Amino acid sequence: MATITYKCPSCGSSLTFDGNAKEMACSSCGSQFEVEALKQAIEIEKESENFNEGTNWQAKDEGFSDEELNRTRTFNCSSCGAELITDETTVATECAFCGSPSIIPAQFTPGTRPDSVIPFKVSKDRAVELFKNYFKNKKLIPNLFKKNNQIDEIRKLYVPYWLFSCTADADITYSAKRVRSFRRGNYRITQTRHYRIRRAGTVDFKDLPVDASEKTDNKLTESLEPYNTKDALPYVPEVLSGAQASRADVAIEDSKKRADERIARSMQNELRSTVLGYESVVPISTKINVPDGTCYPALYPMWLITTKKADKTYTFAINGQTEQLTCDIPMSVPKAIGWFLGIFAGSSAIITFIMSLILQFR
Ligand SMILES: [Zn+2]
Ligand SMILES: [Zn+2]
Repeated sequence: MATITYKCPSCGSSLTFDGNAKEMACSSCGSQFEVEALKQAIEIEKESENFNEGTNWQAKDEGFSDEELNRTRTFNCSSCGAELITDETTVATECAFCGSPSIIPAQFTPGTRPDSVIPFKVSKDRAVELFKNYFKNKKLIPNLFKKNNQIDEIRKLYVPYWLFSCTADADITYSAKRVRSFRRGNYRITQTRHYRIRRAGTVDFKDLPVDASEKTDNKLTESLEPYNTKDALPYVPEVLSGAQASRADVAIEDSKKRADERIARSMQNELRSTVLGYESVVPISTKINVPDGTCYPALYPMWLITTKKADKTYTFAINGQTEQLTCDIPMSVPKAIGWFLGIFAGSSAIITFIMSLILQFR
């Protein structure tokens, strides 16, 4: 005869059957459990064991054609080390990253070819206006910035990204508690109910961007999101005219890892937001599956503006499509939060959210 040993969901000790209460009891923490509930808990755990975990990304990388290479100019910045490309008609005189004039032509080493480009919608004049407007009616800004804010440099830069699209499945089991305290005669009784809660869902992600340039801070680029890929054009060297593009130099495996993290975080938040009304909720098993994701390289437009104050350089970045602005000026609380946390682009990525398998027991 097979015997099943039930473990206490609260503390992990073995449970024994209490004949008087007709329940399983834990001698270690004093919890009691209905046999039926324990059976359901085991069922739930078994079902999620069958869930396929893992992510699989197919990257599109076609490489530059010889003809494109002929129409592309490459140079390196000997000041900051940036590797930049532009088209044959653009005379590059300074580095789009650091503004240094010490840029030298370089041999083009064919790397990742952008598949599409979001062109600039924000003009240079408009970028300057956005910079000036930023300081108006800002109460939390340091006094240093109250007047005479001059643009030191303004540069037009395309930032390389990998864009990830997939249908992701998540299966998360939570351990939750509800605590109730009441008086009975001379006793104060605290009753804790334990729950196993399982949530499963599917989320479609479309063009989730991951910064592919080492030179741009991920926190900065993520706080400029979202971009709208419906304006994107197929890549031709001419789109770089008058601008510079940074080379995609982050290893694709690292970009995939970052996409996995963002997808996991987004799905954890979505599923967790449906588990309500408990004193404590702890995920005990989190499984995410992306069976056939795809990603492709793209260029996104950004204006970079620097301003100098008391010998320090501050950077403003403006989304060249949407006018979204971010900067590293301290004390401006809402902007600082955006800068440090990186505003999550989950809202643009999540198109559908289907809840299924909502199981609860007590
Ligand atoms: Zn126990
Ligand atoms: Zn530079």
